[in-house]
Amino acid sequence: MDRRDFLKCSLATSGCLLLPGVSLSGNLFRVINPASTGLSRVEARYYQKLPDREIRCNLCPRYCQLGDRERGFCGVRENQGGKYYTLVYGQVASLNVDPIEKKPFFHFLPGSEAFSLATAGCNLHCKFCQNWEISQMRPEQVKSINLPPEALIAACERYRCPAIAYTYTEPVVFFEYMYDCSVLARKKGLKNVVVTAGFINPEPLADLIEVVEAIKVDLKSFNQSFYTEYVRGELQPVLETIKQIARSKTWLEIVYLVIPSLNDNPQEIREMCRWLKNEIGPDYPLHFSRFHPMYLIKNLPPTPVSTLEALREVALTEGLHYVYVGNVPGHPGENTYCPNCGKLIIERYGYAIRKKELSRNKCRHCGQVIAGVWN
Ligand code: SF4
Repeated sequence: MDRRDFLKCSLATSGCLLLPGVSLSGNLFRVINPASTGLSRVEARYYQKLPDREIRCNLCPRYCQLGDRERGFCGVRENQGGKYYTLVYGQVASLNVDPIEKKPFFHFLPGSEAFSLATAGCNLHCKFCQNWEISQMRPEQVKSINLPPEALIAACERYRCPAIAYTYTEPVVFFEYMYDCSVLARKKGLKNVVVTAGFINPEPLADLIEVVEAIKVDLKSFNQSFYTEYVRGELQPVLETIKQIARSKTWLEIVYLVIPSLNDNPQEIREMCRWLKNEIGPDYPLHFSRFHPMYLIKNLPPTPVSTLEALREVALTEGLHYVYVGNVPGHPGENTYCPNCGKLIIERYGYAIRKKELSRNKCRHCGQVIAGVWN
């Protein structure tokens, strides 16, 4: 069994064997605290104290205001006597070694592996969530291992992954753990990538941007009523997040999961592409991903490939340079084409790289600079 197979077991999503106190390799998980309860008690950041032992959480645009012993919407942060705590610091509920293309990042260290993890919890409630077994659970409801930042970094190094990915659920809700791990990882020369729905306030995002190298934002629709009905969130803060990341040095990619009849209106997609081009420019990759029936939306079919192709065409016509079709292995829309000469420069099959025609950061055919972080 190679190291990727060995770690390809997510604690909650696939009945993984990585239970608290069980040492699988005799090395990596010696660090596990066998007495882990699934709960931590580390003071949260970004909150303010209010009278009568109430608090207000300022981490995300929900601004939960909570009395003593109450938890926020995300279920992983709790007011205890007027002090606010994260309950999931180091409480890892899913752990895998994944290709970076799976996140997906197509213009960031292609062909590399990311040590990928999540805790329980999410600050949204998407009816089509792929990881609802952990994202929509409280920490007591999922199996987790206690992996302090030092142990996480050591494990990542041992498995020779160049990057850590904070992913699967919503890393915003385990912000403190992600931040501390990122600071430590950077000191060791490792990169940090974040996979998020972007529902976060500007101040914590500004701090996060300083310590991570890439962020993928799931833009779920360009329509507030979709966010209200299917996500229980707001569109505008996500758009602000996208702009804020694009203004920084942190690499950005955007994923749009296309759900038949719910968010696949070509005119709306056209408006979204215009907004992206005007606000952040044409060079950040946009992935149109294929939906499969999931969680609370099982009554719709998978996205027709023809819909993904048509939307990709809309985005290219609007002038975006790197537009991909996702979740359709072998589709030509998985490849990167030079926006100048049109030649194929990275050929992919699913998560695998088959050919790379890049010379450093330039197209090998015409010398055009290709946006991204390539090494
Ligand atoms: S992070 Fe959680 S507790 Fe804080 S405002 Fe958002 S949903 Fe509420």
